[in-house]
Amino acid sequence: MGTADLHIHSIYSHDATTTVRAILKHASDVGLNVIAVTDHDEIRGSLEAQQLAPKYGIEVVPGVEISTKDGHLVALFIETLPPAGLSMTDTLLHIGKQGGIAIAPHPFNNLPNSLSMEAVLGAMTNPRAKAVLRGIETHNMGTQNFDRVAQKLSIYLPLAKIASSDAHIYWAIGAGRTEFDGTTANQLRDAIENNATTPIPYEEEFSAKAIFSWVHRITLRRFGYASDAITSTQPITSRPLTDTMRRKIIKIKKDG
Ligand SMILES: [Zn+2]
Ligand SMILES: [Zn+2]
Repeated sequence: MGTADLHIHSIYSHDATTTVRAILKHASDVGLNVIAVTDHDEIRGSLEAQQLAPKYGIEVVPGVEISTKDGHLVALFIETLPPAGLSMTDTLLHIGKQGGIAIAPHPFNNLPNSLSMEAVLGAMTNPRAKAVLRGIETHNMGTQNFDRVAQKLSIYLPLAKIASSDAHIYWAIGAGRTEFDGTTANQLRDAIENNATTPIPYEEEFSAKAIFSWVHRITLRRFGYASDAITSTQPITSRPLTDTMRRKIIKIKKDG
């Protein structure tokens, strides 16, 4: 059996604090087989992670967390960024056209940016959109106190059950992981499409500790620092962003 964390944010998300190489190092250190870097409406960090992954002995599924008109949607196995601001159904169709699949992240909890039951069931009335939506987060470390409804309703939905960290700080990566038969990204996809995954939730109450740590690290980010590790053998520390990383982040802001 392998484990995956399919919802992780890198420094290419405006609200996250970890470089791509530090994500890969920590994911490898905590024994994950497959990860997805899913930045808010941004795919470049994810593609960078996929390129670097072999050096860290893990596999990366290219992905993104899209802001749809109806709430956030995690797209996986995609090559290009779907446009933000479409309906959930149109976003699913866009993801499907390029061969990807989608997971409903932190749904059914009335928090801003969460998909409602109406939006999910509405999208599933379209057969082509339904074929793309394959998973539901029953456990999301960031919303763990609001996950009970998703856990209960997931029993009635034909969707793979997924536990994810939604990590915006490096040490939360893997706090929420999905177990599947195999160790590769393709085997993970098979397990999701066959509704054969097992969510492995975190044992502890993480939210308060994670929020405190995030405030500390996002403040450091404002001063130009990120959680970084130059190689897979060096520890993750707060380091100044390199000029290359800084340029890429500025480019994203301009493009956005
Ligand atoms: Zn989200
Ligand atoms: Zn997220």
